[in-house]
Amino acid sequence: MSNEHKSIHEFDFNLICEYFTHVERQGPGSPEITIKALSFVENLTSESRIADIGCGTGGQTMVLAQHAPGNVTGIDIFPQFIEQFNINTAQLGLNDRVKGIVGSMDNLHFKNEELDLIWSEGAIYNVGFERGINEWHKFLKTGGYLAVTEASWFTDERPAEINDFWNDAYPEIDTIPNKVAQMQKAGYIPVATFILPESCWTEHFYSPQAIAQEIFLKKHAGNKMAEGFIANQRHEMELYNQYKAYYGYVFYIGKKI
Ligand code: SAM
Repeated sequence: MSNEHKSIHEFDFNLICEYFTHVERQGPGSPEITIKALSFVENLTSESRIADIGCGTGGQTMVLAQHAPGNVTGIDIFPQFIEQFNINTAQLGLNDRVKGIVGSMDNLHFKNEELDLIWSEGAIYNVGFERGINEWHKFLKTGGYLAVTEASWFTDERPAEINDFWNDAYPEIDTIPNKVAQMQKAGYIPVATFILPESCWTEHFYSPQAIAQEIFLKKHAGNKMAEGFIANQRHEMELYNQYKAYYGYVFYIGKKI
């Protein structure tokens, strides 16, 4: 990554939250892809307990709850996201079985073997894929499922610019076979992996941000941090457009042995 571009970790969290609260989802994905991933998960019933970790405002959680039986708990570290999550839940009439709570994925309060399904789209990187799949394993019942998306390399080699960008942003990015091997080692049968289509980035993630960016820049005119943050978002989008042959998000679905 070149020096003029910062890591998202260097920006004010309140600004990031404000910006992302105004878009439907905070990471690449789509309703169709959530439903596709769910099609690999078996044996859910109205008694099932599901956790969506790093749920954000709940774009994918609502889809999950509309297509799976059971109780769903969304967990996110940002109270603003959870507030919006619970508004969305009530609007969709899902509040009898879907609840958002504030919490951190590195300190979850589930009991051992409590959960039938752990879901996490575009969020496990916050604790790191390998650590996350290992630490969360104990919360699943035997035969329970893990379904997470994770940034992954599609090829063994790639241009230096994108390699350096990701190694700075998330050094744990790796190839699909290496991620699958980590799952197997952590005690999951690798049930399925598939690459999220480009539309999950363009149509569902970057396009809705274009309007949000204009509104945000007007509101924070002159604020260097806000301007830098948007410049960073735009830079990431340009990199995606240029190098999408080399990386993307991948759904990893595993079953606890
Ligand atoms: N799953 C949502 C989606 O796909 O739209 C949000 C993805 S967003 C890229 C990552 C989410 O992880 C954010 O909502 C962020 O607040 C949350 N997050 C970051 N660190 C976290 C932590 N330690 N514990 C729980 N959530 C966290």
